[in-house]
Amino acid sequence: MSMSHKRPYIIAVDGYSSCGKSTFARMIARELNFIYIDSGAMYRSVALFCLENNFCENASIDLKKLMEKLPSLHITFRSNHNTGIQETYLNGRNVEEEIRSIRVSEVVSQLSKIKDVRQHLVKLQRKLADSHNHEISGIVMDGRDIGTVVFPEAHLKIFMTADVDVRAKRRYDELKAKGLEVNYEDIRDNIMRRDHEDETRKESPLKKAGDAYVLDNSYMTVDEQMEWFRNIWKEIAKENYDYRNR
Ligand code: C5P
Repeated sequence: MSMSHKRPYIIAVDGYSSCGKSTFARMIARELNFIYIDSGAMYRSVALFCLENNFCENASIDLKKLMEKLPSLHITFRSNHNTGIQETYLNGRNVEEEIRSIRVSEVVSQLSKIKDVRQHLVKLQRKLADSHNHEISGIVMDGRDIGTVVFPEAHLKIFMTADVDVRAKRRYDELKAKGLEVNYEDIRDNIMRRDHEDETRKESPLKKAGDAYVLDNSYMTVDEQMEWFRNIWKEIAKENYDYRNR
């Protein structure tokens, strides 16, 4: 007897650093009542783990030690009771704030170049999507390789980009608002370096999937981005018909 295996509808949101991918992906997920998964938070959690265990010395990572520990790392997402916003947990500890720090941003690209680390996290990302199979109708996952590597069969792919100065200013304002002492030039440099490292790495470099819709949000408000999304969603509504009516 064959069991019917309902696959969730998958929306992949990829793009450059600090483009507002997670804000956008989270809003789409809320609108469609889909689950949102932040794949960058998983790379960031591994980076934090390396820093806390002194696996990073002079910009190099002790891969042997990391690979011993990686299979037992537990990365999960839980919704904050007060805000409803999803937060990242590393081995049961809430690390949402720490993984966004400059210290983590500095090493994360180095780490995300490593093939073994990527393979492990891609497996986890697919498993996360699968584990929701029977409860939900869809998933929005954001990252760099979601539409190209993690879910090349995603139903809808979006590739986000924005002017680097606009991105640096947004990030600067965001960190300032949190009361952090930050320097605009440092942030801009970090974004440019991450773009370069993400685009030029050998393993799953950042690139637009051939069938992705491009969203340049340099001069768009969040509402305008949602309008853009709704138009695309309408455009593909015919294809979505089956999914909506199952
Ligand atoms: O999206 P976010 O900026 O939080 O991601 C942090 C870093 O993790 C990126 O700079 C990138 O190097 C890496 N990453 C990746 N593949 C993903 C998600 C993030 O390589 N799918």
